Amino acid sequence: MLNACIPHGRTPPRRAPRPGPPPTTIVRPNPQELTECHVDLARAGVQFRVLPDQVFSGGCSALGAVQLLDIGVPVTNLRAMTCPLALAFVHWAREAVQPAAAQYLGTRVTRVETFGTYSCRTVDSVPGARLSEHARANAVDVSGFTLADGRHVSVQQDWKGEDERVRRFLRAVHREGCRRFAIGLSPDSDAYHYNHMHFDMGRGPYCR
Ligand SMILES: [Zn+2]
Repeated sequence: MLNACIPHGRTPPRRAPRPGPPPTTIVRPNPQELTECHVDLARAGVQFRVLPDQVFSGGCSALGAVQLLDIGVPVTNLRAMTCPLALAFVHWAREAVQPAAAQYLGTRVTRVETFGTYSCRTVDSVPGARLSEHARANAVDVSGFTLADGRHVSVQQDWKGEDERVRRFLRAVHREGCRRFAIGLSPDSDAYHYNHMHFDMGRGPYCR
């Protein structure tokens, strides 16, 4: 299926050795596009650092990745992200999350909480399944938001919670995420996403 996630905190299972060619081709980003992406991040006033390319076993990699250091709002657990993912995330946080918080909740988001970005694992952690976009630092899992008025919004607690305004806020940021990322998944997509929204820059579009 799609780029489903596993509940976090578990160790990805080891892939059984298989004969034949490696299951995944390492695709390096186009250098010119990468440079343009760095320029776009700098123009957006983002503080970031360029990470060295890394190739891991099992076809996992972090190529052309950056680490966002300051995008104007604190974000937890952001480490290696492909540059297009990072750029989409910046625009989403600024142009979707903050306006939605103002519109539906009458406040600002002071912290975006994520479960992270890079993780070497297959889709749903099924041995032999194709690699998750997380295995290429090309996905991010958003779990919640801290608000300026002290409230906390959790995807797990509030996606189907009692507060209609909070539900509408979460659906708005998910819907807007689908416009900026290739794929957007929510607790409505499948059981693996009960506690977060998954966004990636893989092959889309897909939004659920
Ligand atoms: Zn994910």
